Parts: sequence; C-alpha cells; structure tokens
Amino acid sequence: MPWITSRKLKSSHLMAKVFFIKDLNKVAELFDLAGIAKIINKNDSVALKIHFGEPGNTAFLKPHQVKTIAEKVINLGGKPFYTDCNTLYKGRRAETKTHLEVAKEHGYTLEEAGAQAIIPAEDDCESVEIGQKHFKRVHIGNNARKSEAIIAVTHFKGHELTGFGGALKNLGMGFGTRIGKLKMHQDCKNCDKVKHCEKNKTIEACWVGSPAFVAEKIVEYAYGAIKDKKTAYFNFIINVSEACDCYPHNSEPIVPDIGVLASFDPVATDQASVDLVNQTEGRINSRNKFRAIYSNVDWAVQLKYAEEIGLGSRKYELIQID
Ligand code: SF4
Repeated sequence: MPWITSRKLKSSHLMAKVFFIKDLNKVAELFDLAGIAKIINKNDSVALKIHFGEPGNTAFLKPHQVKTIAEKVINLGGKPFYTDCNTLYKGRRAETKTHLEVAKEHGYTLEEAGAQAIIPAEDDCESVEIGQKHFKRVHIGNNARKSEAIIAVTHFKGHELTGFGGALKNLGMGFGTRIGKLKMHQDCKNCDKVKHCEKNKTIEACWVGSPAFVAEKIVEYAYGAIKDKKTAYFNFIINVSEACDCYPHNSEPIVPDIGVLASFDPVATDQASVDLVNQTEGRINSRNKFRAIYSNVDWAVQLKYAEEIGLGSRKYELIQID
C-alpha cells in the first residue's frame, strides 16, 4: 500500500502527484505506478536527459541505476537515447566528440545502459520562441527538440549557483547549447567589461550573473526545452553531493541515499526532493541544508519562478511505493 504525505502552500495551483521508492531496484515499479507509459507511443523518439559526469567525478548517475528506464521505453515501442549538450567551460565535455568519449568511459553504451548516447553539435539546435521576462527566444539542442518525448533522468544534488540541481536545472542548463549557457550566465547590462568583451564572439565562459538572475534564466530555458513535448521526470536522490557533477571531484554525500521520485511535474519533483533532503538527518545538521552550504543562494527562486511561468506546482502529494 502506498502512503501519502502532502505539502500545502498558499497557492491556487493544483497538487501534483510525486511517486517515491526507497529501493533502487524498484525503478520498474515506479515507472509503472507513476503512469509514465502514457507519454510513450510506438516509434516515439525519447530523449533521456542525463548528465554523463565530469571525468574524475564519481557521484553522477551510473548506467545500471537508470537502465531500467530505457528498457521500459523500449518495451513500450519507443526509441530512447541518452543525451546532454556540451559544456560552456573548457574540458572534454565541451565538444561533442570528446563528450561522447566521456559518456562511453562512464558506461553509457548500448550494451551497458540499454540505449546509445547522442550529443548534438553546437549548430544542431533550435531557437525556440518563449516570450518570457529574460528571453524572448532560447537556444536549445536539437536532441530535445527533435524528440517526441523527454524524460529528465536527474541526479539530485547541491549546486553553488542554484542551491540544488534538480530536474529544472537538468533541463534548462543541460539542454542549452554553449551559446545558450553563456546567455544564462552572463549579465552584460550590469558588467563594466561590456565595451571590450569578446566572450559572445568566441563563446567563452562567463560567470557574472547573480544566483537568482541565473536561476530564473535556467527556468526559462527549461520552459523552451520542453515546450510542446511530452515529458516525465525521475529524480535520483542518491549520492547527494554538495556541488554539481561538472566538477572533477565530489564531496561525501550530505545525507544517506533517500530513493527515487517520478512525476509529470518538474517543479513538484524538485520541491519534493529538496523537502526529503531537508527532512533527512545527515552530516549537514540543518533543516535547510542547501542554504546551510550556500548561505548566499536562495534555492527556492527556481521553484517560485517555475511555478509563476506555468511549469508546474510546488504543492504535491508524495506517494510512497513499498
Ligand atoms: S564578462 Fe560576461 S557579463 Fe561581462 S560583458 Fe563579458 S559576457 Fe557580458
């Protein structure tokens, strides 16, 4: 029997259902009970949005942990592929060829992961019209835009710029092209280097944008990535490191492994994930763990703004599957 808890906010948004398993061996049951099958039609191209992990990092999601999702999609007649876009910062994940090599080294092969890895070239992208506060259009990789369905398969962990990295960050920053990632990070209007800066010409890393400013822009990119797509979300709350998987190292987990969530609502999935982390005793002794780690970052900004622009609800029912 599933048990249900709920988080009620002063909000008119509908309560989203978020399904939860503690046992990582039950991802197939989670997939079924969350009803994910309803977004997969025969011959659908299904993007499994994942972070393949920076070389040296060990906290990223491993193929054996997520393979069941690819297998379920195949059993439904869909055509899954694992995917990400290249990084803005220099490194092996900044170019398609070497990014694919890293994916392979981390086990993301057809044999080990149940589906192939695909990473688009920088110019293989779509300018998606979104008409939001920061961006009228966003630059999204065609791995997202050419698929019928997107399943965000997310390693939930801390992040120095957004407090935590969950489904919204995986979609928004992850599906942004390198120029898109630059646009999310830069704040040229308020930068004294703007007269002589060449970063826009060469697509060079810039980290000027403030945490809240960047968080809202990530949410707008997430909006563009999933616009008109069928979507579902799996958050793996395991190996919850302090910082993101883009570092070539990772901290010890801040809490013991919690489990996996699945939902059709990315906002509810992330809200439930952060609540579960905060409710769990760990080596960070706080009921607001990401704020305790990053005191200058309000992790709720991304959730509030995502709810405001219609990506989902912070109010949810958590349904645990035994
Ligand atoms: S350093 Fe960044 S924010 Fe400043 S002008 Fe260059 S791209 Fe814009």
